[in-house]
Amino acid sequence: MVQGSANLNTEVNEKWLQEYIDSWVDFFKKQTVDGEVADYIPILARADQEALGISIIGKNGLTIRSGITEEKFTIQSISKVLTFIVACMERGLAYVLNRVDVEPTGEAFNSIMHLQISQPKKPFNPLVNSGALTVSSMLEGKTSDQKLETLFLLLEKIIGYRPELNIETYESERDTSMRNRAIGYYLLEGGYLESDLGITLETYFKQCSIEITIDDLARIGLVLSNDGFDPYTNEEIIPRAISRLAKAMMLTCGMYDASGKFAAYVGIPAKSGVSGGIMAVVPPRVREDDFPFLDGCGIGVYGPSLDKQGNSIAGIKLLKHIANQWDFSLF
Ligand code: GLU
Repeated sequence: MVQGSANLNTEVNEKWLQEYIDSWVDFFKKQTVDGEVADYIPILARADQEALGISIIGKNGLTIRSGITEEKFTIQSISKVLTFIVACMERGLAYVLNRVDVEPTGEAFNSIMHLQISQPKKPFNPLVNSGALTVSSMLEGKTSDQKLETLFLLLEKIIGYRPELNIETYESERDTSMRNRAIGYYLLEGGYLESDLGITLETYFKQCSIEITIDDLARIGLVLSNDGFDPYTNEEIIPRAISRLAKAMMLTCGMYDASGKFAAYVGIPAKSGVSGGIMAVVPPRVREDDFPFLDGCGIGVYGPSLDKQGNSIAGIKLLKHIANQWDFSLF
């Protein structure tokens, strides 16, 4: 479905854009058979492996959706971009960057090998679990609900409603996540955490269990595309410097050990989550060519069938195709 009026600076009209997107979703949906739905958090195994949906929301108001577009799913690791933004807004960039670095690890999201080998004074980046738990520990507030209140308020401002916490998903991860508890104890031993480990883990499991849609992800991506300003109200929601750093983190670390390939072959900041979400940011481009969304857009993708790196296998292929067809790449 295409919404919103748009003075497309291209000959291609909205009907053609929708037909393109529909055909591309139909084509890449077939690739879902090559992946697997996550099941290490038991409740995630309920997802439909063949599901694939996309929402693209432009600064010019044009919205294109296709495939599974209404599904609510948990944000999972995409929340790490948002807690990093909130921590920077609450504590200041210098405080956060003094406690978590901005370097990719090239390893799985829940690995601590890089920490054990390099013994750095701070976790490598805020988008792997070691860095994300460190960031969750520094959010203001004593309880997990207090720590996440600013995140909920930020989300409400961007997506227009207060999202729900999926309690079943929270409990499913809380009751099974040995790996994150091990990472948490390693961080505690290294003096990285600013809060009680139990509260930090509770905060992290809750932030990952916030329910969103692909439209919500596209709206967040659009604000980041617009350097932290809401293009419809022109209100600065995220300070520009923080928005830019968040995009840099997404570009270099957002797709885990596939981040290098994604930056090279897709070329836009993106963050994935194991429930199959991808949030992508397409900044304004200076090309004069006839492409849609030249002044930027946000993209939300849902495709729970994952590849070995824990990214949506069909979602990545769909994004790569669209980025190449519509010249989204930064480079
Ligand atoms: N809650 C998940 C975990 O920590 C998030 C992983 C992801 O989405 O990449 O394992």
